[in-house]
Amino acid sequence: MTLNKEKRLKDVEQTLKKSSLNEKLSKDLYKDLFIEALEGIVFWSGNGKIVKVNEAACRIFESSKDELVTKNLKDFVYLKNYKFIKVVDQLFERGSIRDELDFLMPNGQIKSLEFTAKLNSVDGFHMTIFRNVTDRHQMERELRESEMKFRKVFEEALEGMILWNKKYEVVDINQVGMRMLHLTGKSFIGQSIIQMIEDYNVNKEELYRYFEELRDSGFANGVLKINVSTDRKIYIEFSAKHNVFSKLSLISFKDITEKLEIEEQLKKSDTLSVVGELAAGIAHEIRNPMTALKGFIQLLEDSIREDHSMYFNIISTELERIDSIINEFLILSKPQTVKFIRKDITEIMKETVEFLNAQAVLHNVQIQTFFEKGLPDIFCEPNQMKKVFINIIKNAIEMMPEGGMITVLVELTTDRRIHISIRDEGVGISKEKIKKLGQPFFTTKEKGTGLGLMVTYKIIEEHKGSIRVESELGVGSIFHIYLPV
Ligand code: ADP
Ligand code: MG
Repeated sequence: MTLNKEKRLKDVEQTLKKSSLNEKLSKDLYKDLFIEALEGIVFWSGNGKIVKVNEAACRIFESSKDELVTKNLKDFVYLKNYKFIKVVDQLFERGSIRDELDFLMPNGQIKSLEFTAKLNSVDGFHMTIFRNVTDRHQMERELRESEMKFRKVFEEALEGMILWNKKYEVVDINQVGMRMLHLTGKSFIGQSIIQMIEDYNVNKEELYRYFEELRDSGFANGVLKINVSTDRKIYIEFSAKHNVFSKLSLISFKDITEKLEIEEQLKKSDTLSVVGELAAGIAHEIRNPMTALKGFIQLLEDSIREDHSMYFNIISTELERIDSIINEFLILSKPQTVKFIRKDITEIMKETVEFLNAQAVLHNVQIQTFFEKGLPDIFCEPNQMKKVFINIIKNAIEMMPEGGMITVLVELTTDRRIHISIRDEGVGISKEKIKKLGQPFFTTKEKGTGLGLMVTYKIIEEHKGSIRVESELGVGSIFHIYLPV
């Protein structure tokens, strides 16, 4: 009996202990889930009347607990539009729903809230859990906007641009880039960026080094020489950056071929002006004694014995050579005496060709000419122009010991410049030597002076024109002269 009683007492005690534990547990759970949840939790009755809310819900709806329990959830819905009706319908149809709506807060603020609603969740009340996604939407919008801005920059940039992803796959190229790289379709998308550049026949070691640098430091820049087609090489200056946008890397590049050419020409014209100054001083000093020497040598001619006539010939031809060098120098030293006039360039060229024809025939060389009709006059010093043509055509004749054809063409370019081209069928000039053309004393001829082209470049420069030389070994060379009209 007593034992039984004791047992019963223990049981009650046990149950009591257990229930307080349960209560405690559920209290803790309640505390964790309801009170401290980051999501706003709202219990409401059948018609939407708010019954109980947590702290987070107060924060979201910008109201106190007391205020909220006097309101209806529907009061907060910003637009009771078709979407809202659909949400309510679905909730009552399925018993639960997860969606997103805009809500109007008492302070006038509109918030996008994501929510999960469940019917009859506790004690017959319905429950909705809210999460504010306004910031996320704002961020998404900003991201979209900055992406759009980026797109605009990408498409409208003056430089070529390529984007690629973490796997080094090309994602896009802008229009300028496609033009610069002579691309037409979009077949390169998805290809490896490295492979793509490699296909332009660039120096591989250099290319790999740039990509390593990019990987290690996040940035690389430099200059690459690329073959855009079989007969055209261009120099591109690029700067590449890792992870510029949404994990994409970007390379932007421009064609600096022309810039490099101009720099090269500037270097040349620098040397030219220095030589010109020197020439001014020296040529006059040598010319006077030379005139005396030439005169006296001629006087001696008759009195020279037969067996010494060979020496005499050498002396006079060498004197001739010195004389011609001095004459070329003098042209350099007399820029102030030139008189520019309006003149038809074809006329000057016709006179020059006539003048050189005798020498050409002697070397079994023919000169054919093509002149575009009705060319505008140019502003020039005709004698100097003639000198230019003589120098180039003479070189051409000298380069064809077996004879051949020289083709002279004069035309107007689409950007209204006079284009004169003089083509020969000589041995041609190697790439390294083309760079040296126009440098004083550069000659490959035994009896050459290496001054003809220097004078030529100088004159063309004074006429604000330019010279470009095209050549293929064993095929021939073309000298292009461009002059402003
Ligand atoms: P020179 O005729 O006295 O050698 P130039 O200044 O006229 O001096 O020419 C310099 C050099 O340029 C020549 O020696 C030659 O090697 C090269 N050159 C010029 N014109 C041609 C050409 N049409 N074809 C091949 N080489 C040329
Ligand atoms: Mg010459």
